[in-house]
Amino acid sequence: MITNYKNFKSIERTIYGAGSYSQLGGLLANKRTQNGYVVFLIDHVFEHGLGIIKKDLPLEKTDMLVWVDVDEHEPTTEQVDNLRDLIIDNHKQLPDAVVGIGGGSVMDIAKAVSLMLTNEGSSVLYQGLNLIKKPGVYHLGIPTISGTAAEVSMTAVLTGPVKKLGLKCDWTPFDQIILDPTLTATVPKNQWFYTGMDCYIHCVESLTGTLMNEFSRAYGEKALDMSLQIFLQDLEPAERDELLMVASYFGGLSLTYSEVGVCHALSYGLSKILDYRHGYANCIAFNHLDDVYGDSVNDFKKMVEKHEVDLPQNLSENWSQKQLEDMAEVAYNLTHMWIHAFGKDWEQQVDRNRIIEWYKRM
Ligand code: NAD
Ligand code: ZN
Repeated sequence: MITNYKNFKSIERTIYGAGSYSQLGGLLANKRTQNGYVVFLIDHVFEHGLGIIKKDLPLEKTDMLVWVDVDEHEPTTEQVDNLRDLIIDNHKQLPDAVVGIGGGSVMDIAKAVSLMLTNEGSSVLYQGLNLIKKPGVYHLGIPTISGTAAEVSMTAVLTGPVKKLGLKCDWTPFDQIILDPTLTATVPKNQWFYTGMDCYIHCVESLTGTLMNEFSRAYGEKALDMSLQIFLQDLEPAERDELLMVASYFGGLSLTYSEVGVCHALSYGLSKILDYRHGYANCIAFNHLDDVYGDSVNDFKKMVEKHEVDLPQNLSENWSQKQLEDMAEVAYNLTHMWIHAFGKDWEQQVDRNRIIEWYKRM
């Protein structure tokens, strides 16, 4: 008997379709107030062209545009605090809207900045579940890579001085998203694969565990099917981009009522201790989890081969014992993932040594 039923808050509105980026100006027009302004947080990869994002941006004179560098590191609490301070220092009033355009990193930054504009102090104070005290500013997300499901999730994952943990609450999800698959056409192949595999792995993990249920299965199986088509069949790029954008969204919805598992637990350790990016870290870990995810790992290997993706081997040869132990500690403490993967008595199957053995395979 479940005693703690989840009560998931989803995004308010979704526009989907090739070319739907053109709707942004109209949506913002409905939100603009006299003397108001909009904050655009956009992945810096679009600063010098690359598609229509800059060319067709409905930017008005009073608006604030920040090109966000996501290459150095995954989003941090410090970065979000600085962006919030920059906005507040430049304006006497709150913006009418915060718009995030980019991959999972910018999605999370936009969600977090929206919340931190109305909640005092550092975002470090709010890393966790339901710690945010006030609703944020209206926020609109436009993903430009598909896979993480950050566009639909109710968390904004930030790395802080102590934890890598999301600002998770009912006010985190976007008020509006625009899913325009044409915006993802410029993603480089390796990145496309690593982030796309986040979606595939979300589905595999969501469907394989003790928290799985019919609600999650409906989304997860569909998204898994789509992922297998995308990565194992020969599709036209436009069709592939459409499918992956929808699969990412469905994979995310599947997770809201289920949970990620072993791969994500190990991946969090890799990201926290070695700064590996989320999608890449997932791929490094999933490649060696045959004992947990069986045939899904075989399919993954076929995908790597088909797309000739760079996936380094024997990385662990260069990891110190201390790094292995630190990663194992991060992973071990993700209790909810282990409960999903192995059940309530997971500690009888998983200990820090078993986790270190998984890391040593990588
Ligand atoms: P990303 O946002 O970190 O971007 C990866 C690279 O792709 C960057 O160099 C970026 O500039 C580039 N890029 C983005 N769009 C592009 C485009 N259209 N064309 C060319 N280049 C483009 O990548 P990601 O994998 O989407 O996001 C990873 C982040 O998502 C991590 O920080 C992770 O923590 C977060 N995440 C969040 C959730 C959530 O639920 N909130 C879930 C999973 C992952
Ligand atoms: Zn993920």
